[in-house]
Amino acid sequence: MSYDDQNIFAKILRAEIPSTRIYEDDDTLCFMDIFPRADGHCLVIPKTPCRNLLDASPAQMTAVMATAQKVANAAMAALQADGITVQQFNEGPGGQEVFHLHVHILPRWSGVSLRPAGQPGDMARIGDIADKLRAALS
Ligand code: AMP
Repeated sequence: MSYDDQNIFAKILRAEIPSTRIYEDDDTLCFMDIFPRADGHCLVIPKTPCRNLLDASPAQMTAVMATAQKVANAAMAALQADGITVQQFNEGPGGQEVFHLHVHILPRWSGVSLRPAGQPGDMARIGDIADKLRAALS
């Protein structure tokens, strides 16, 4: 399996398509999922190419997980979440749809189930939540 630099997250990294960015450093980017399964659902990706866990370098995994931890703690504080679900899928049969490594950060609240996948979010609401996350990360 090789890396295809036309995948949608590679286009987001190159700013060829829009995204709602909430955090970046030298090695990683975090942006809001536009089909959010929970309020504050966002994705952490490495800035360098790899498909997923199976071909990522230890350095890419370390950088992505460090940012995932940072964003998860920010979401707990900024959104008064009760917990965080972290998801990461590998290859189509493993549930992966976009073939650039990414970790899902899903804030959770007691008694609130995840929404079904594939439902477009309200972009104004996503923007408001992104503002809170950015403030907590700054
Ligand atoms: P998966 O590859 O199954 O781990 O999931 C890919 C995720 O990317 C899904 O949660 C989608 O909602 C999300 N997604 C797809 N296109 C975009 C986009 N243009 N901006 C933000 N999130 C996206």
